[in-house]
Formats: sequence, C-alpha cells, structure tokens
Amino acid sequence: MRKRGYTIMELGNYNPRESVWLSTDPLSGYNPVMEVEHYIDGEHNGGVFNSFNHNTYGYCYQNPIRYVDPNGKQADVTISKADKSITITQKFIFYGSEASSALSAKIANEISYQYNNYGGTVAYGGTKGWKVNFNISYETKTLAEAQELAKGNTDRKLNFIRIEKDKNRLGRSFMRQLGSNTGHWLVSDGLGESSTAPHENAHGLGLEHESDQRGRGIPNIMAARGTLVNSEYQYDPKAKSGAKGGTVNPIYRRVRNGDIQKIINNIKTDSNGNNYIGSPKIDNTLLDKTGHDL
Ligand SMILES: [Zn+2]
Repeated sequence: MRKRGYTIMELGNYNPRESVWLSTDPLSGYNPVMEVEHYIDGEHNGGVFNSFNHNTYGYCYQNPIRYVDPNGKQADVTISKADKSITITQKFIFYGSEASSALSAKIANEISYQYNNYGGTVAYGGTKGWKVNFNISYETKTLAEAQELAKGNTDRKLNFIRIEKDKNRLGRSFMRQLGSNTGHWLVSDGLGESSTAPHENAHGLGLEHESDQRGRGIPNIMAARGTLVNSEYQYDPKAKSGAKGGTVNPIYRRVRNGDIQKIINNIKTDSNGNNYIGSPKIDNTLLDKTGHDL
C-alpha cells in the first residue's frame, strides 16, 4: 500500500473485500459536458427566483448559526518536507438505503479525480511550491456497521456519509456542519458525476460558498447553486446573467488551486504533533434516512 509520499494506512478490522484504494490518475472518459443530462434540473427548486439560491448558506444549510459552528474532523494530514508534499488522507464510510459498492466507487473516484487534478502548487509554512496529494479510500457499510465505527471514533480520516435517493430534511445533499465528518447526500444530486460530492467534501474540509464568480474563468468547487459565473458556465450560455438559466451549471465546477490553498490553510497540529484539518472534537454524528441526527 505504499505510494510515493504516501503514508501506509491500516485497514483495521474491516472486511478488506470492499476496501478500495484509488489511483490519483485522471479518470479516462471524464467528460462533464456529456454528463449534463444526468444532472438534475438545477432550476427545479425555483432557480434564481428562490431566495435561498442567493443566500450564502442556502444551498446546503438553511441554518447559518449551526453552519458556522464547526465541530468536526475531516482529514489526516502528512507533511513531507523532503519532497515538499502534503498528503491529505480521507476515508469515506458510505451507508444508507442507496449505498452500494458501485455507487461508492463512483463517488470516491469523482472526489479523488477532482482533488488531485487541480494543477499547481500551494504555499505552506511560509514557503511556496508544495504539492498536495489526496489519498481517498472508501468502504460501503450497513448502518449498524457504520454506527459501530463512529462510536467513539478518534480516526481523523473517517467520514460517514449517508446515501439516500432523493429526499431529506433540506431537500439537497449536505454536510452536518461546516467541517463535519458526517453528511447526507442524495443520489438525485448526481453523485459521482455532477461535482456535488466534491463540493460537499469541501464543506467538510471547512470551505464556504463563494458567490459571484463572473470574470474568474472556470467556477471553483465552492460555487453554490444560483452563483453568477461567466456565460459559458451557465445552464444556458445565452441567458442573461442571473436570469433563468443564467447561473452556474454545477457540472463545470472544479477544485481549483485556490481551494486547495484554503484547505491547506486549515491545517492544525494537535498536542501529539499530529497534523489535521478541522476542530479537535470529531463530529461522528450519524444521520437517519431523512437527515436528522441519530
Ligand atoms: Zn454547498
């Protein structure tokens, strides 16, 4: 399991049958334009006519007070000064009615692809030129198995994501809190092909929405539904900015160098000298079928 600049990760007592480690190579055939038909109609909830779509917190969180109360732990961080690389390790535990090996693989592959193909380097510790690798793995678990893993979990790389079909209390995929290691994602949001999963993961890594991205080129991963972007990245390139069809089509969102820099800026060190991203207390709160705390 050793890769260049990567740590050796233990698989614990899990069934190795579904423990999958992903290559950081680009996925062949990844074509966001061709996948537009698979994405749900982003205007279905009212588009720009729904005020939530203009609210910084609206896309994922209708409760900003809770949203800005970080209480999570998302990722293990390994820093190698020798080759100026930073490895962020995340393991996704997928559970819920729609969690399947095939879908888990698809989601994890999309996250790995987006987070390892931004290009460029970042600054860390006062020096530039650091390369960041994301080491993404996953397992598909039953609710009981996920609960067993989450109970008293101190492993910072574990993220617990409940997968359901098309309904939850917010009507869209979400992370429990900013910086949380638990979330509730909907298949109807195009998991694995729409950039929703990488977007939600960025919330887990502490990133907030970035509004009005006109003049910035390719929208970054933090463009929420309803965000204004250059016309070629709109649902309808011919639509007037902000009018119907004149907001970001999420399939164009990409993890950009600036996103990675913000994630790296969130690195902290605990009392044992271990690096991590997030708050010291790990969330670990699993969610029920509709997204309420269990
Ligand atoms: Zn969001």
